[in-house]
Amino acid sequence: MVFAHDTEMSLLAAVALVNSAQPPETLTTVAELDAFFVTYEYTGRHDRTVAELDQVRALRPRLRALLTAGPEATADLVNEMLAEARAVPRLVRHDASGWHVHAVSEDAPWATRIAVESAMAMIDVLREGESSRLSVCADEDCEGLVLDLSRNRSRRFCSVACTNRNAAAAYRARRRA
Ligand SMILES: [Zn+2]
Ligand SMILES: [Zn+2]
Repeated sequence: MVFAHDTEMSLLAAVALVNSAQPPETLTTVAELDAFFVTYEYTGRHDRTVAELDQVRALRPRLRALLTAGPEATADLVNEMLAEARAVPRLVRHDASGWHVHAVSEDAPWATRIAVESAMAMIDVLREGESSRLSVCADEDCEGLVLDLSRNRSRRFCSVACTNRNAAAAYRARRRA
């Protein structure tokens, strides 16, 4: 494990959320939003409304910047997002989780909590000097984000689809050579 479990979950969720804006766009319905909540082990307030869906979707460009802007700009964004949400770190333990940090109330809008959790996760990334774990997909036509949590830093593509498409292209190129 590169980061603590809650940091990795926050990063995986942030990347999935940003990538949902890539064509074909996903996270377009409350049902998909619900599935996202479950998949990424969220707790706390979840309205299941179109308003919440819009708030979460609207977060995507800012999250994309947070995850890819480079250390200086990312640090500015982290500080901005934490200040905006009036984040106050609290050490908590709930359900089966180990000790981890919450920085906004469980009653805060989900989009606010996603923003704060992503910012908190980027604190770990920057402090560990691990920014290079985040990159843009190596596929020429894809803007998806890649989070590489592998030991040998071998991940270059955002999805199975991009991995397979590029493997097939490389195979064809070799056969032509
Ligand atoms: Zn928690
Ligand atoms: Zn891709």
